[in-house]
Amino acid sequence: MSPRPLIAGNWKMNGLGLDLDEARAIGAAVEQGTFGARVALCPPATLVDRMAQTLMGLPVSVGGQDCSPKAAGAYTGDVSAAMLAEAGARLVILGHSERRAGHGETDALVAAKVLAAISAGLEPIVCVGESLEQRQAGEALSVVASQLAGSIPSSIGDAAFAVAYEPVWAIGTGLTPSLAEIEAVHIALRSGLVQAFGDAGQRVPILYGGSVKAANAAEILAIPEVGGALVGGAALKASDFMPIIAAA
Ligand code: PEP
Repeated sequence: MSPRPLIAGNWKMNGLGLDLDEARAIGAAVEQGTFGARVALCPPATLVDRMAQTLMGLPVSVGGQDCSPKAAGAYTGDVSAAMLAEAGARLVILGHSERRAGHGETDALVAAKVLAAISAGLEPIVCVGESLEQRQAGEALSVVASQLAGSIPSSIGDAAFAVAYEPVWAIGTGLTPSLAEIEAVHIALRSGLVQAFGDAGQRVPILYGGSVKAANAAEILAIPEVGGALVGGAALKASDFMPIIAAA
């Protein structure tokens, strides 16, 4: 049986205390409605604790946006997976293209973070995706296959994790691949997951991310191998996020 789709909101570096009103509104709306999806919100690290308190008892999980591969020590500015978990996070986004590009994160580093996250009991959402140049060169499938193989260690055993296919050129741009292009990448990712993890690889949710909004969510979420969405800009306001949750 396929797991429930996962709709995760990535607030990126947006959100101050006042914005918890939006999280509260999302939590209340998910609680009141009947939705097929699992829902998560990933605020900046400073809001994880307060958002977890805000959503206590409501069916919306909280996630981090990154974690250190290290457990503790002299790593100024970093946040460990155990710190996120203690603050109330249940998931963590890892290997987002904004971290791969802006912070030089390699597949090997992402893989180390995945292990750290799993040791702390967090469910990683591991992001992969090609640049525009790579897509235009016909390399999209090989790029994501190689990121997938390098970013998820085979030693994770049966720990829960998700993968997010996020074409770099579709993030925050309003552009999206065609439905056929999304499907082709998700099929390739599924085959990579099954190759690496056998039967368990069939059940790993593969989210799509990149300019998902109310207007395109239903058609994207209807693609057979799409197991949810990672949503940036449209997850900041309950009025934008709820129709995406309802489409799943
Ligand atoms: C993201 O940052 O993960 C993302 C998908 O952003 P957006 O929805 O704004 O394109």
